[in-house]
Amino acid sequence: MRFSWISWASPSNTSPRFLSDMSHRAAIREEHDPFAVLGLFPSFLRVLVFLRWTSYACPHCGQVFRRDFWPEKVRLGHGQRACDECGAVFDDGTREWPQLSVFKKLRFFFPPLLIGISGGLLLAAILVSILPQRDWRVAVVGLILALIPLFFWSLIRWPWVFRSIRRYNATSTSK
Ligand SMILES: [Zn+2]
Repeated sequence: MRFSWISWASPSNTSPRFLSDMSHRAAIREEHDPFAVLGLFPSFLRVLVFLRWTSYACPHCGQVFRRDFWPEKVRLGHGQRACDECGAVFDDGTREWPQLSVFKKLRFFFPPLLIGISGGLLLAAILVSILPQRDWRVAVVGLILALIPLFFWSLIRWPWVFRSIRRYNATSTSK
């Protein structure tokens, strides 16, 4: 079976068939949290605390090639990237689906923002259903509303996963 669920646990645990030539330097990852200090002030500015991002830069020249506004965002890819600025090839941190741990796979499908929205709606539906004057219709509507974003998000994500698996298998058989 070529497609396995074995987790991508540590660099020493890399799949040799696919990553044997991945001796490239890893991208420079930097956390940007410029508004963190505003959390100390009791004002509307506090919402800016959530504006944070992670930047990824070429390890050879420092050119930033990506900014993620979600913490620990999982991206699919073959892992190698040529810098637009200096042309050097490096490891951009992306991995193909079969190489991801179960935790990262779940994270790919259920990003924190989506979990927050759906989780909130689900919680509201549960609360409504345990009220003394409970209204099942409201609970059911809440449940449906909670599942809709998850459903559509999965629809968008599956093609990415299939493409990644195909890429991974194509690479592993060509070696
Ligand atoms: Zn560069």
